[in-house]
Amino acid sequence: MKLWLRMRRHDPERNSAEYVSGELSARARRWFEHHLLDCEDCWREVLLGRFGRRVAEDAHEPVPLGLRDRVRAAVLLSSTDPPSGAVG
Ligand SMILES: [Zn+2]
Repeated sequence: MKLWLRMRRHDPERNSAEYVSGELSARARRWFEHHLLDCEDCWREVLLGRFGRRVAEDAHEPVPLGLRDRVRAAVLLSSTDPPSGAVG
């Protein structure tokens, strides 16, 4: 683990949520965009946040099958609720 990375405190869920919703200041936004290049956790959270919003806002827009499955799998993995009707 690199020291400089630990000094810059990052909160993948919170930072990415604020980034996606445009709540970050211009300065924080630029730092975060740079940070994304090196941080897998934050990058994944941003992708999830963006796709989550897109799917929610454009539910009628067709989503590629593979992509939808990957996003759904990621959402399921991050959720503590068991999928309904999965047991059978
Ligand atoms: Zn990060």
